[in-house]
This record gives sequence, structure tokens and C-alpha cells, in this order.
Amino acid sequence: MTSRAPPLDAPRITRDAGGNAFLEGFDGAVTAAGLGGVLALAIAAAPTGITVADPALPDCPLVFMNPAFTRMTGYSPEDVLGRNCRFLQGRGTEKESVRALRLAVAAAKPITLEFTNHRKDGRRFVNELRMAPVLDEAGQLIAYIGIQHDVTARKRAEREAAKARRAAERANQEKSDFLAFMSHEVRTPLHGVMGTLSLLLDTALDAEQRAFAETAQRSGATLLHTVNELLDLSRIEAGKLGIHADPFALADVVKDVLDLLAPAAAEKGVELSASLDHLLPGQLIGDPGRIRQVLMNLADNAVKFTHRGSVELRIAALPDGHVGFAVTDTGIGIPTRLRQTLFTRFAQADPAGEQIGSGLGLAICKRLVALMGGQIAVDSTVGRGSTFFFDLPLAHVPESGTPPTRMAPQPVLVQPLGGAHGRILLAEDGKANQLVAATILRKAGYTVELARDGAEAAAAAESSDYDLILMDVRMPLMDGYAATRAIRALHGPRGRVPILAMTASVMPGDAELCTEAGMDGHLPKPLGRAELLAAVHRVLDARPRRPRVAIPEAEPGATAPLLDRETLEELRSAVGPGRLPRLISVFTAETKERVRRMHALTDPQRIEDEAHSLKAAAATFGAIALRDAARALEEACHSGEPASWRRILDVLPGLAERSIAAFPPPRTEARARHDRDPKGH
Ligand code: ADP
Repeated sequence: MTSRAPPLDAPRITRDAGGNAFLEGFDGAVTAAGLGGVLALAIAAAPTGITVADPALPDCPLVFMNPAFTRMTGYSPEDVLGRNCRFLQGRGTEKESVRALRLAVAAAKPITLEFTNHRKDGRRFVNELRMAPVLDEAGQLIAYIGIQHDVTARKRAEREAAKARRAAERANQEKSDFLAFMSHEVRTPLHGVMGTLSLLLDTALDAEQRAFAETAQRSGATLLHTVNELLDLSRIEAGKLGIHADPFALADVVKDVLDLLAPAAAEKGVELSASLDHLLPGQLIGDPGRIRQVLMNLADNAVKFTHRGSVELRIAALPDGHVGFAVTDTGIGIPTRLRQTLFTRFAQADPAGEQIGSGLGLAICKRLVALMGGQIAVDSTVGRGSTFFFDLPLAHVPESGTPPTRMAPQPVLVQPLGGAHGRILLAEDGKANQLVAATILRKAGYTVELARDGAEAAAAAESSDYDLILMDVRMPLMDGYAATRAIRALHGPRGRVPILAMTASVMPGDAELCTEAGMDGHLPKPLGRAELLAAVHRVLDARPRRPRVAIPEAEPGATAPLLDRETLEELRSAVGPGRLPRLISVFTAETKERVRRMHALTDPQRIEDEAHSLKAAAATFGAIALRDAARALEEACHSGEPASWRRILDVLPGLAERSIAAFPPPRTEARARHDRDPKGH
């Protein structure tokens, strides 16, 4: 709303040489004379709208405005001098801004705000207004200065940039989703192809057939490698690749790389070796998987592009505390032109050359090294060889010993895996993958039953006992997550069967989804035979004995050791030195009290609850026999056979006593700590 100020005594608008307009003819604070000549010219030339309002006059009217104000608003001095500046407001002016402005004026405080104003012709603009009170020497308010900018264009640009950014983020998300989807679509059939080829190679083939199958297998492996590289790159670019910080042994990482490359190097007659600086500690903190990936890529290239001589990996402690890695070969070298673009995407040497990869490897290495806080570089002479360097800031794990300093590839040990036993449910809708996994598992000695979708898997798990369920994640009717949730909702041991997800989708967050659904692990497809068997073996090896619902023949837990020292050591390093004795004493006191309490109970449900808690606590402290007994008790209570749970309950106090006695006494604990850390760190 605009309202005219009450008429002034003979008000008169005068202009100075620059076009500044003044309201004169009253006793106001701002007059042409008061402004001063040079200053007035400067204000007249400013592109910023400048106004002065006089709070001594009724309704605080404008008494001064410069030409920029007219350009910005379309109002001439005759239109506005003598009026309160609120004539700029109108429809669309933000109410909160007006309120904030009024409060600031009432409190004689400066304020800056952006709000919608109107020009004389009605067009809207966004005014960035700075209102500041002017006080005289006595602290009396004598004027308000308004500094105004038309920021409409900037606001529009900001809005458009935000819109474009949102669109780009959406497109990027869609790209990631598409990649995740495609990776699944590509990896699943590839899984089938690779698995079937390896089965084919296990059958009797003549030399020609074998050569064909082997070529197909090599091409498949290359394709798989490329799909994985693409996924890595897209994940890095989407900022979705997390870097771990775990304790690890560098020597193990180097050994893995040597062992994997040994066959290729040996075939070419290239000598492969590694050396580790004796100043490096045995354990460092970092992401061993990603370090292995970078080293592997560099060493793999080195072997690939070296036809005679050697490939050497050197790892050293650098003076700045970083760890330096170098991979040196005596191979073909890299021309200067290629060297400049080597770490960008799709850089490859002469495409007519025989060795062609995706050209993504080094681009990924560079990004991974940067994500881990380091840098990568190359030095090379054509015909003489190349050295790739990178450095990483890896924290040391104190007092972890020194790794071996010289390493060469070890002969690969193949573990005989026959004679395995256990009942496995394989839930997988793809026929080829089903065939491959089932054949591998059956050959290893397992009994395998099949389910074609999640609903079948859940039904089978409800009606039979399995030692393990291998669950595809994407299946028709009911997916693997839903099936797992259904199985986990079953009562008794059937609801607790180990479930491993098999999925070709390897986008971040997948592992969490599996865990949330209640799965125990996650195997990326395509799985090689060795990986599949190793994973299955790990689970079945760790499985508890079948629940003993009948009266146990021997005392439950009698065969297990009382105390697993390794678990205790893990606990010690997890809680930090010095805290373990106190924890052990809390555990022993709690266990004694719990066992006493359980003895007085008669309700199997309550005993089951106590047994469950005892099982968990005993497992944490490595009291294995006690854990097993508690587990057997829990199962027995659950199945509701009083004879069996009473029997276990009877032996529990004695077993608890012996388990507690097996813990190191507090003084030994203190000494062990001192030996490890004499300075008491
Ligand atoms: P690719 O998957 O094609 O090997 P990389 O990014 O790992 O992709 O390597 C890009 C190119 O750099 C290679 O194709 C090769 O021409 C060159 N290159 C990499 N490492 C070496 C090396 N040690 N010796 C010679 N050339 C190399």
C-alpha cells in the first residue's frame, strides 16, 4: 500500500549537477549542501540505487534519491520524494521480508534482505535492499540509507543453475542405476558362460576343442574384467566408492599380486619379484582391496608389456611418512605422447598393437590413488622399460613386527575339496547358473536341492532342514530379500539357517540390503568355482552342530575347548589394551549370577531367553564350550522337551566354573599388557 506523506512546508525538489534529487524546504538532515560536491557526483554515478529517508518527518519519507534508483524502479523524484518507500511493495512481496524490515526499522538496526518489488510500470524485480540507520554524534537517529540492487537476473540464473544441477544429478543417478542394471544383465549370463566353459574344460576334449574352449574362457575373463572396470569408474565418478581404513598386512597384498601374476610371468620367462623396506611395520591402516587393485593393475601391465627381463615391485617407507610403491619393468616403454594422456580414460598405445585392453585401468588407478590421498606418476624410456610410482598416507599399526623384505611368488597350493558334505538349497532362476553352481557343489560332495524362485525357496526352507541356502537376489515372484525375510520369520533353527546372497549387482549399498534382509553374506556373481567352494566351506565349517534336541550324549560343549585365545586377543585389540581384565571380571560375575538365576527358573521360555544372552556373551569372550552349551540349551528349550533342557541346565554351573577358571588371572593379564607395551601406551 502506498500512502502519501502529509504535505511538507513548501516542499521543493532540487537536482544537483549529477542528477541526484533532494527534497528541500524543511529542516531535514540531508541537503544538497550537506552532501558535498565530489561525493554527490560519485553517488550520482553509482549503478546502485541509493535513497535517504528522514525519520524526523511524518511516515519517514524519502528525501533523497540518486539517478540509479530511477533507472531501477522507473519512478522519477517527483513521483516519490516525500513518500514512504513502501510504494515499491505490492502483490508478490514476501510478507516475512516486510515484517523483518519493519522490525529492523523500529529497532534502528541495519538489515539486508531480498524481496520482490514493483517498478512503476508494474513489472516485478527482486530488490536486494540494505537498510542502515544513520546516527549523529549524540547517537540520535537522523536518517535511513537504502542501498538497492536489482538482482532479478542473478536470481533467475541461480534458479536455472539449481534446476540444471538437479537435472544433472538426476541424469547421473539414472546413469548409475542403468549401469547397475546393465551390470546385472551382463554379469548374469556371463556367469553362465564362464561356469559352463569351466565345466566343459573338465570333460574329455580333444586338443582342438580344448583350445577353442580355452580361447572362449580367456575372452570371457577379459569381458568380465572390462565390465568390472566400467562399474568401478562409474562408481568413482558418482562419488559412491568408499575407501576402507582397516588394519592389514602389506606383505599379504604383495603376495596376492605376485601369486596371481606368477603364471603369466613364468610363461613369458619374465622374472617377477618384490621387495619391502625393512622400516615398514607389519601392519598398516588402509584399504587393502583397493591397494591390491592398483598394484595388480600396474604389475599386470608391466608383465603384459615386457617380453624379456624382469618386473619388480618395490615398497618403501618415505621420509614424509607415506608409503611409496614402485612397479618397474624392462619392457617396451611408453612413448612421450601416450605418457601425457595415460591416466585419462581410454588411453591406449598404437591400436594396431597386439595388446589392447580397455584403456580404463590407469584412469581407475589414478582416481583410486587420489581417493586414498596419494599421487601416481610414471617414468619411462621407449625400449628400456617403465616405472610407475604411487604414494599413500597409510597409518602404522604400532608394534606389529616387520614384514619379510624379499618376496617371490609361491607355488600355488590347490586344496583338495572332495568329500565335503552338507545339504544346500540353491535358489536361482537362471537355468545355466543353476546348472553351473549345482554341478560344482555336487562334484565337491554336497547335496544340492533347487528352488526356481523366492517363494519356492521360502517354502522349501520351511519344510526341510538345510545347512546353507544360496539365494539369488533377483528372482521372479518373490525376490531373494523377501524370501530371506520370510525364512527369518520362521521359528526355530529353520529360521536361522545360514543364507548367502548371490548377486551380479555390485552397486554400493547391495551388501547392506542383504544384511538388512537377514542374510549372512554376499557373493558377487559370476563366482568362480574356487570362490564358491571357499565361501560355502567357510559357512559350513563354522556351522553349529545340528541342534541337539535329544538328550546330548556327552556333556554339551565337552568337546569344544573352554577358551578360544584368538577371540580373546581380538577382543583385547578391539577394546584397547588395559580394558580386558575389567571386562572379563564383569563377564564372570554376570555369568555366575545368570547361571544361578537360570537354575531357579522353571519356565522354558525364560530359560531360553537367558540361554540366548549367555550364548552371546560367551561367544564374545571366546568361552566356546559355554557358548555351545548355551546354544544347545536354547534349542532344547525352544523344542520344549523338558528332559533335554534339564539335563543341560544341570551341567551348566560346572561348565561355567571351568570356563571362568580358564581365563587368564588379572595379574597375568597385566603382565601380558606390559610385555606388549612396556611404556604403558
Ligand atoms: P589397458 O586396460 O588398455 O591396459 P591401462 O589404462 O592399464 O589400460 O593402460 C593404458 C595403456 O598404457 C596400455 O594400453 C599401454 O599402451 C600403456 N601401458 C601401461 N602400462 C605400460 C607398461 N608398463 N609398459 C608399456 N606400456 C604400458
